[in-house]
Amino acid sequence: MKRIGIIGGGAAGIAAAVAAARNDRQAKVFILEQKEKIGKKILATGNGRCNLTNRRIDGSVEELCYHGEDVRFAGKVLGQFGYEDTLKFFESIGLVTKMRGDYVYPRSDQAGTVLELLKLELKRLGVEIYCGMRVQSITQKKKEFSIKAKQCPAESKVSKKEQNMQIFKADGLILACGGQAASAFGSDGSGYHLAKTLGHHVTPVVPALVQLKVKNHPFAKASGVRAEARVTALIDGVPTASDTGELQITAYGISGIPVFQISRHIALGLYQKRRVEAALDLLPEYSREEILGLLMKLAENRTDLTVGECLAGIFNQKLVPRISELVGIRLQTKMSELDKRGYNRIADQCKRICLTIQDTNGFENAQVCAGGVRTDEVDPRTMESELVKGLYLVGELLDVDGICGGYNLQWAWATGCIAGKSAAVKQGNR
Ligand SMILES: Cc1cc2nc3c(=O)[nH]c(=O)nc-3n(C[C@H](O)[C@H](O)[C@H](O)COP(=O)(O)OP(=O)(O)OC[C@H]3O[C@@H](n4cnc5c(N)ncnc54)[C@H](O)[C@@H]3O)c2cc1C
Repeated sequence: MKRIGIIGGGAAGIAAAVAAARNDRQAKVFILEQKEKIGKKILATGNGRCNLTNRRIDGSVEELCYHGEDVRFAGKVLGQFGYEDTLKFFESIGLVTKMRGDYVYPRSDQAGTVLELLKLELKRLGVEIYCGMRVQSITQKKKEFSIKAKQCPAESKVSKKEQNMQIFKADGLILACGGQAASAFGSDGSGYHLAKTLGHHVTPVVPALVQLKVKNHPFAKASGVRAEARVTALIDGVPTASDTGELQITAYGISGIPVFQISRHIALGLYQKRRVEAALDLLPEYSREEILGLLMKLAENRTDLTVGECLAGIFNQKLVPRISELVGIRLQTKMSELDKRGYNRIADQCKRICLTIQDTNGFENAQVCAGGVRTDEVDPRTMESELVKGLYLVGELLDVDGICGGYNLQWAWATGCIAGKSAAVKQGNR
């Protein structure tokens, strides 16, 4: 009987197990998971609602929505297993989905529904699940993998003395350990180590989809404010990535979807020790000329109107004193006292406030990692390693990261399903 082992019971590992067991009903398919349960991260996704894919994913969006040293790799994978395939996969396990714009969620709005249905399918297919088993080393001899795993005391509640080392054997092995973002859910970077011991190379790994810490934060006192803004990553002064949406101001820096979307560029810039800034456009829906027109209109026939009162008609109250500080014009100054230069200064600051970024929040707070196992060492048609035959690498472990909006789970489902099927078919042909 063929044996297909999967290390990691996250989104990619579970999808791989389902695909492997479906494609070879005789095979012994098993998952080794170091946490006490599989799928812990799935429960946390989409604020507990699980944004499981996105209608825009079809293998042609890779350059806009995915990153990595070779984004074409993502395109090749998603060209084989895109949005429609993910919907079919979930339909096949009985999940009813719904859309919010292009984003897909379970109709129940509960990530728990997604995990429960996946677990039921694993059970139906007879997939063996070993939780509380941390894989420590992998070797391959004559096409057979030997996987050494240790019971995790924290997870399986056994004393250190009682910890057992167990050896599992497999003909095909799928490495689905995730990256090192949000290690509370199990992904602690050990997958990179395991991949390296098998000869693979790992590109620099940094936190992505993460909050940014601002040096001498001019908006610290406006913590808690949410405002529509365009956020641009400047690396050595060069605009590198940009996104518009709801900016969230925190005591230490900035957060929110547009910040998450540009954060991987910022993190890489910091890693490369370059000068890293985030430029805020607090009136993205207006051009500079339109802002000048707006200010003039607001001040028209109101000779007593102060700068503070004028800005209060446009921005959240907490932002107004901060903007006036940055512009260098006192709140009490009358708009009628401003000359053209004064108007220009206000318009310029509204369009571009440069924040110096001193760091990102750490991996613990990141939703994903940028960087990972080099994709030129993996066959995008099968997810099989180009270096070790019978080994497959999937999910966040690889050097591919997506933007917010269901792109990362899509990557996990797609790579998992392709690898599981390939492992089953290949093993079947032996
Ligand atoms: C808070 C949060 C919200 C998110 N929301 C979304 C969202 O709504 N939509 C979206 O697309 N993406 C979202 N993401 C990202 C997405 O969840 C991940 O990209 C995806 O789950 C990665 O799947 P994976 O299977 O590759 O890795 P993981 O889900 O990290 O799974 C890896 C598994 O391997 C296990 N493991 C690791 N090492 C070992 C070892 N040595 N031995 C045994 N087991 C091991 C881990 O315990 C873990 O269970 C979110 C992430 C976070 C943290």
